[in-house]
Amino acid sequence: MNEMDKCLALDLGGTKLLVGIVNGAGRVLTSRRYPSPLASGAKQPEIAAHMLACLEDFCASTTLDGVRFMGAGVVGRVDDGRGLWLEIEPGRCETVALARLLGKRVGLPCRIDNDVRCALRAERVLGSGQGLDDFIYINIGTGIAAGIVTGGQVVKGASFNAGEAGHVAVDISGGAACPCGRVGCVEAIASGSGLDARARALRTQYPRTRLEIPEAGRCRADDIFRLAREGDALCLRLANDAAEAAAALILNLVWIADPQCVVLGGGIVSDPWMFDQIVQRLPENAMRFTRGGVRLTSLNPNDVGLIGAAMCGFDAP
Ligand SMILES: [Zn+2]
Repeated sequence: MNEMDKCLALDLGGTKLLVGIVNGAGRVLTSRRYPSPLASGAKQPEIAAHMLACLEDFCASTTLDGVRFMGAGVVGRVDDGRGLWLEIEPGRCETVALARLLGKRVGLPCRIDNDVRCALRAERVLGSGQGLDDFIYINIGTGIAAGIVTGGQVVKGASFNAGEAGHVAVDISGGAACPCGRVGCVEAIASGSGLDARARALRTQYPRTRLEIPEAGRCRADDIFRLAREGDALCLRLANDAAEAAAALILNLVWIADPQCVVLGGGIVSDPWMFDQIVQRLPENAMRFTRGGVRLTSLNPNDVGLIGAAMCGFDAP
């Protein structure tokens, strides 16, 4: 692939669906944002129909001249080799032959993968993981998941479910319950959804907190971190626990995979103060072989999913 190559890319996230054209250098040439139906509880066939409608709308106003591939990144379990979208989450698992469906509609060879593995691919080709055969990418945003490259191979697992690192228990919160059924999962403490849930659970203990906890929608993570810096006791507790939990997750994965470096992405770690809080909690001794250190992604967090989907598409058969 070179800079002249173009790929039609689709990124389905929890809050938005992006469709765009990305060149071989990872530059987004044009893109359009649509609402994501994921939070509505819709099943895969319905969501796939929505994706086709968005694609059609996008293609009606954009020329596909010079576009030779299509790639898509979606949440959940994906069999990338067979182009199957297997599952969104337990209870939402009606397999869709998504690569064939999308490719047929636009007349291009199409490849799909899980959204975090798409981001991992973008990091590997263009970002902080360039040229590395052993590295870990951890996304800490609304949820938490990891992509692991070891010996040059992406770890996928027997059921395409490897890297669900949000459910690694780090056990520092005094018992935060996770929707997965476990207690003490890192996602229940350090993700955007976990911070919100804990703020609600703990607020009666901190009647003087200045944190705004909205009836509908989520508390803003950047508010929590700002108030923590200003000494708000609830926010300090939430932020300290989140940093401790994220650091524990990094250390657990470093002990398991022995990477050259760890790349962090996602809304929570994009806050520079929070990034520092996490890195400060990593003992030098445990990190001594991770010579590339812990780095923040060099890719724009708003585009990394779309760029990753394109990098996936460039490998389409
Ligand atoms: Zn869990």
